Amino acid sequence: MTPADLEFDQRHIWHPYTSMTHPLPCYPVESAQGVELVLADGRKLVDGMSSWWAAIHGYNHPQLNQAAISQIGKMSHVMFGGITHPSAIALARQLVEMTPAGLECAFLADSGSVAVEVALKMAMQYWQAKGEKRQRLLTLRNGYHGDTFGAMAVCDPQNSMHSLYQGYLPEHLFAPAPQSRFGDNWDETDITPFAEMLQQHHRDIAAVVLEPIVQGAGGMRIYHPTYLQRVRALCDEYGVLLIADEIATGFGRTGKLFACDHAQISPDIMCLGKALTGGYMTLSATLTTRHVANTISDGEAGCFMHGPTFMGNPLACAVASASLSLLAENRWQGQVAAIEAQLRDELMALKSHPAVADVRVLGAIGVVEMRQPVNMATLQKHFVEQGVWIRPFGKLIYLMPPYIISADQLSQLTGAISRALN
Ligand SMILES: *Cc1c(COP(=O)(O)O)cnc(C)c1O
Repeated sequence: MTPADLEFDQRHIWHPYTSMTHPLPCYPVESAQGVELVLADGRKLVDGMSSWWAAIHGYNHPQLNQAAISQIGKMSHVMFGGITHPSAIALARQLVEMTPAGLECAFLADSGSVAVEVALKMAMQYWQAKGEKRQRLLTLRNGYHGDTFGAMAVCDPQNSMHSLYQGYLPEHLFAPAPQSRFGDNWDETDITPFAEMLQQHHRDIAAVVLEPIVQGAGGMRIYHPTYLQRVRALCDEYGVLLIADEIATGFGRTGKLFACDHAQISPDIMCLGKALTGGYMTLSATLTTRHVANTISDGEAGCFMHGPTFMGNPLACAVASASLSLLAENRWQGQVAAIEAQLRDELMALKSHPAVADVRVLGAIGVVEMRQPVNMATLQKHFVEQGVWIRPFGKLIYLMPPYIISADQLSQLTGAISRALN
């Protein structure tokens, strides 16, 4: 990549949440191998982000590469309307088998946000089929569910700037974020505001939507499993559907295969994405129960009204299926447990630092919350100079490395964070 290439990038290409007039610097990456990103100048960075929760097995993985190569030699894509193919069937078999009990019917779509849109449409169609007009959603503050309009409407109103789209976004109900932390004592009053909102509005509420146990991009908060159990029980009591957005937490990241497993609950609808393909390409799945699927199908429309062009893309399904087979070998449990222990050892010490508000760790997730928002560009430069890739946002400096990271590599990441504080 020449300087002219980078200049072209700045002038013509949007990056996530950036300005065209004042773009933040971008680092040119030319390849990636294992846990390392290779910059255009040859420097190698230890990756602390798994490319946003996705690259759980690391980069350039021989089995995932092989799955893509074998599939591309047959076909990269074929329409899913009226056609099926072995990769979609293999993937759906694995998903139905590994997800919490009762989730039996899989919808394969393009991205996490679309999986959430699909889940919301399922909930709307479910109530329509039952002859009830229920169009509101109940969710939690500090949530994040994606950037498309339906998903954004259930994201934290402040973080996702609902004010920009006022009058256009549907107005849903937001309960306070859970306060009882994972690993601390459960406080029964924590569920009270949620319970009161559900009691008051349940006749209008189609579904509760939340991220189980870990609220990701909306604040990296880690909450008590009993909260999730209470939510499940209240949804059952009032006959409201529960949508678990496991797009960030799914596939072992929190130390359990799914975050719902910490509370031993099954949602009515579950959204999966991010790590589904081991970070190779975009694909998502929305799973639901036979009851929800049958109710929708027997309703007025007679079908579920959604069907994206690249639905069930064979290339993505083949790689996802290979990624799930790697998980089935069960090395991830030991790997994630070792990462968790080391993150506790090496990050908890930072808690007493005057600039640090909080440190929290669960599974392969480590979060250092600062008292003040960080200067992203300056800190990013510091990390690259230290040979690591860590992308902070707001007050949060966090790690979610690939599961295959070595102890030395993980120490490089935590060491770079402690040096950044000093
Ligand atoms: C990232 C994320 C999404 C959106 O997924 P995209 O693939 O970026 O559309 C939705 N929900 C959660 C919990 C996420 O972390």
